[in-house]
Amino acid sequence: MTHQTTCCYCGVGCGIVVNQEPNGRLTVEGDKQHPSNRGMLCSKGMNLHYTVMDQSDRLLYPQMRFNRSMPLQRVSWDAALERTAAVFKTFIQKYGPDSVAFYVSGQCLTEEYYLVNKLIKGFIGSNNIDTNSRLCMSSAVVGYKLSLGEDSVPVCYDDIEEADVFLVQGANPAWCHPILWRRIEAHKTANPHVKIICVDPRRTDTARSSDLHLPIRPGTDIVLNHAIGRLLIENGHIDHSFIVDHTDGFLAYRELVMQRSIDEAAELCGIDSEAIQTAANWIGRSKGFLSLWTMGLNQSVIGVNKNLSLINLHLITGRIGTPGNGPFSLTGQPNAMGGRETGGLANILPAHRDVMNAAHRAEVEAFWNSPVKIAAKPGLTATEMFEALADDRSGDASLKAIWIINTNPLVSMPDVNTAEKALKNARFVVVQDISNRADTVAFADVVLPAAAWLEKEGTMTNAERRIAYLPKVIDGPGETLPDSEILWRFAQKMGFGDAFKYTNCSEVYQEYAQLTAGTNVDVTGVTYELLRKNRTIQWPFQQHDKPITNNEYRIANSENRIPKTENRIPETGTKRLFTDHRFYTANQRAQIHAVPDGNTSEPTDEDFPLVLTTGRIRDQWHTMTKTGRVAKLGQHIPQPFLQIHPDDANVRGIEEGQLVVVQSRRGEVRVKAQLTDDVRPGLCFLPMHWGKILTNNQVRANNLTNSLVDPRSKEPDFKFSAVEVLPY
Ligand code: SF4
Repeated sequence: MTHQTTCCYCGVGCGIVVNQEPNGRLTVEGDKQHPSNRGMLCSKGMNLHYTVMDQSDRLLYPQMRFNRSMPLQRVSWDAALERTAAVFKTFIQKYGPDSVAFYVSGQCLTEEYYLVNKLIKGFIGSNNIDTNSRLCMSSAVVGYKLSLGEDSVPVCYDDIEEADVFLVQGANPAWCHPILWRRIEAHKTANPHVKIICVDPRRTDTARSSDLHLPIRPGTDIVLNHAIGRLLIENGHIDHSFIVDHTDGFLAYRELVMQRSIDEAAELCGIDSEAIQTAANWIGRSKGFLSLWTMGLNQSVIGVNKNLSLINLHLITGRIGTPGNGPFSLTGQPNAMGGRETGGLANILPAHRDVMNAAHRAEVEAFWNSPVKIAAKPGLTATEMFEALADDRSGDASLKAIWIINTNPLVSMPDVNTAEKALKNARFVVVQDISNRADTVAFADVVLPAAAWLEKEGTMTNAERRIAYLPKVIDGPGETLPDSEILWRFAQKMGFGDAFKYTNCSEVYQEYAQLTAGTNVDVTGVTYELLRKNRTIQWPFQQHDKPITNNEYRIANSENRIPKTENRIPETGTKRLFTDHRFYTANQRAQIHAVPDGNTSEPTDEDFPLVLTTGRIRDQWHTMTKTGRVAKLGQHIPQPFLQIHPDDANVRGIEEGQLVVVQSRRGEVRVKAQLTDDVRPGLCFLPMHWGKILTNNQVRANNLTNSLVDPRSKEPDFKFSAVEVLPY
């Protein structure tokens, strides 16, 4: 028996065919009819079935304890949820609704996100729900909102074949979005004139396969983008009529970028000015200009400004809304976008409504028939939740209870020792997860065993706004329950039963879809039935929209041809936004922002003279609770390492493979040194995957990172922490 589903690792959203043999054995292969991957899978996707078949670390039944010095005891679902509801009600009554919080995950399905938002915002009366997507995408969200008027990726994957210049900035898609990268590589192989520019302080695999690598100093992306902007203006490569007809803010931008010479910018960035000239020339002369970025721009204390400086290059050249043109933030998690659609951040409501907008609150309250007023104040963001719990001085008004769903903050949060203190301090911790390898379990008062991929149904939205249906294929082990069911059962225990009387996830999705009517993310035409039939649908998709049929995909794929984009829209169902150049801002004009180019990261000094950047390796995913269980994936890079430039190593007497101690103002790690000029002098790199459980706290990268966040997106500055490295 075969089942079509979607990979649950990254935002590329590859289609997977799961083969289920009569003996229950599972195998997976890429779905040749899926528009996102056309049959290809990367190493993680190809081995996804092992994460389901190995159940050795699964949480199998609810557990709880009344004292953290006691071991967790097996209990029934009713007992676990009744106690959790009783504790939540007590805190809410005594300290107010902001005394409780949910911290969820970009791994959660859209229906799960919707339910948890409805529960806390519409029925408990707090906006204290945030997600680990805050740690990776929120700077892009704010950048899109400020420039285009909406959290909306304007391009689609089919734009790849229309582009002739790719600017990849602060991203390593060769490792982190491999199938998307293979599509770009295939396009370049077929069209050798296509140029790829990679901006990254590290020489990554993406940089190696680019035509031009700009290894800028960390924190100087805006300087570079402004310099490119200046050259585009000086070389006559801007689109005057687009600027006049469709944007605001150009004059202030031009004045700003003219203030710094190209030589000065090159000096600040630590690269040759000729390289900046080359990049600007390629972009200026291109027919299709796509920019791709991820954490190098987003995970920064100036992340929003970095995003705006890059989007500006599209707005001054008019390279947006046309074939092969546009800014394209690559989504890290599989459903970071779907989560935001349902309101899965502390400052938003379903369909990208804003909690600070009274009309938006009223619409949602009326739809939900909420018994409470939706709070007008944004809730605590990811880092704010943990800081509130860790703050010993916090009084009765502060956070008391946190419910963590499918994420492992004791590995992934910045300055993770603060997060650990937070969970120790918390009066009540609920952990809902699939794995006992989640470091949070040790701090839990209640543990709720969740169903995993293939064990539950729901939907996800990938990086090009493509919604996919994930069927339930197998039963989860033990007493595991789908996350949606856990949430609606809990809501019933809280006394909100009438509003949470669901019997399946399709009902949840239909309710959410109705709430999107008339918004920019309108999905009123999407149903499970349609998704099962058509495989995927991009938003927006209104009630009377017509999707592509499976047969149409088959024809396109079997002939191995990619029709011209003009013909592909809407025939293949692929949607690009802003084709009429009317943006989602109030006046329908995009906003060019003249943003300052300085960095405000933690300063280096004599004690901590090096910059540490953290990131991913090719075959591991986040905190390794899934990929760490697949032996094959450990073969690529089995051990953590610190990349350090040979010049920096030599002055410290450090040799290749030697154990070193990396120290920051917050903590330390011990790890083997890898001497390489793939990193700039002054920079070192440490993978973020390994946590306390796996390494006895020796190599937890976030022991070192700092708690600074971008003031608008509240996204942490993972890419810039001051450290020293010494022989151990
Ligand atoms: Fe899964 Fe991403 Fe790999 Fe595709 S590229 S198979 S979605 S991890």
